[in-house]
Amino acid sequence: MARNEHYDVLIVGGGPAGIAAACCAARAGRRVAIVDDNPAQGGQIWRGMTEEWTAATQSPLAASWLRRLREAKVEVLAGTQIVARPRDGVLLAETDADACLLAYDKLILAAGARERFLPFPGWTLPGVTGAGGLQSLVKSGLPIAGRRVAVAGSGPVLLAVADCLRDHGAEICLIAEQAPWPRLVRFGCGLIGSPGKLLQGAGYKWRLKTVRYRTGCWPVAAEGDGKLSSVTFHAGSKTRTVACDYLACGFGFVPSLELPTLLDCRLDGGAVWIDDWQETSVQGIYAAGETTGVGGVDLALIEGQIAGYAAIDCQDHAARLFRARERGRRFVGALDRAFALREELKSLATAETPVCRCEDVSRQQLEAYGSWREAKLQTRCGMGPCQGRVCGTAAEFLFDWQRESIRPPIFPADVGTLAEIRPLGKQPGK
Ligand SMILES: Cc1cc2nc3c(=O)[nH]c(=O)nc-3n(C[C@H](O)[C@H](O)[C@H](O)COP(=O)(O)OP(=O)(O)OC[C@H]3O[C@@H](n4cnc5c(N)ncnc54)[C@H](O)[C@@H]3O)c2cc1C
Repeated sequence: MARNEHYDVLIVGGGPAGIAAACCAARAGRRVAIVDDNPAQGGQIWRGMTEEWTAATQSPLAASWLRRLREAKVEVLAGTQIVARPRDGVLLAETDADACLLAYDKLILAAGARERFLPFPGWTLPGVTGAGGLQSLVKSGLPIAGRRVAVAGSGPVLLAVADCLRDHGAEICLIAEQAPWPRLVRFGCGLIGSPGKLLQGAGYKWRLKTVRYRTGCWPVAAEGDGKLSSVTFHAGSKTRTVACDYLACGFGFVPSLELPTLLDCRLDGGAVWIDDWQETSVQGIYAAGETTGVGGVDLALIEGQIAGYAAIDCQDHAARLFRARERGRRFVGALDRAFALREELKSLATAETPVCRCEDVSRQQLEAYGSWREAKLQTRCGMGPCQGRVCGTAAEFLFDWQRESIRPPIFPADVGTLAEIRPLGKQPGK
């Protein structure tokens, strides 16, 4: 039997948005818990950081929020993954040790975003990873010193990743940004009103000044015998091949929508729809951070605070943050325009290139169908361990398909845990 807990406010996601929401919701003596599937809080950007370490190094922001979380009366449920919703107001979670049913009065979804991968010949070779993915592996201890790494894809995160990998001793042979130079210049000029971001960008450029940064440049093939040895890039009207041990490649981020979809929250433009108070279309369920749209850590923190205050009916505190959120959203608009993916990337995958690497389904096999649902039923695309998190996102971009529905469990789970979903299954008389 699963453990049962009940919270006034339950928060899913221990990244910046979830941490900020928890700190604010815990102010009024409510029972608040924050759930994250990682061993420690911090989400994608602050993963593995500790208060002491970050305070002493370059992230006082992380240190201050991690301290606030420790001091707040928040129950931290680490290593706990939400896998299903057995009934309204209850989520089913799994840990290494057991399953638990977490009931809530108010729920805040802060499930973040994940990298977008696009298929191209050779993208499944060992040595080809996500950009943020390689950074996470290195932060978790993967030795990278002396290894040659090409960083490719799109977005400011490429600079952050290259900087981090270089700090750990990697030799960065190239940063390939698909966006064209004039768009980046416009984006840079627009940052004049955001000195913090301008300084951050300038810092990266300065530290990476000896690294080649090519715009309008993207990988067309990864080559190697059993593992990566080189990558061919499209650059201008030419191609060039670069020898490397790793290709860290990510084409921006996409909001994680599995849980909001399971909870029937309305989506809008590929993100969770929210009102001014960060409340979703389902009463009592709020959303904050990158699950509502990819906007970076600062916006995630602001949205998290608004959601936390709104969930405990402190609307006056929440409203004071509206202007800051508006500024954050303007920055997101600029980011989207600057790093919009170019049409050419839709033809990187050849007929034989696998799009679904779990079930080994090629582009050609998928092209025979008119929708994600049809393709999934006929080819098993999206039915492997990643449950379409990689190929579904790629198919959305390649074929303009929509993925409308989701079935529990949203992550692979133990059979014993799944038994707890029964109440939603057969009901008497049906
Ligand atoms: C791989 C990656 C690397 C990145 N690297 C950088 C970087 O170097 N620099 C930078 O400025 N920005 C980076 N970003 C962007 C940055 O992470 C975000 O701007 C910021 O962290 C958003 O905060 P968030 O709280 O919305 O989401 P996140 O920080 O993503 O936190 C969401 C958390 O929810 C957890 N979660 C999701 N679903 C469940 C579930 N069902 N059960 C339990 N837990 C769940 C996730 O594991 C995650 O820990 C990166 C993003 C990604 C995806």
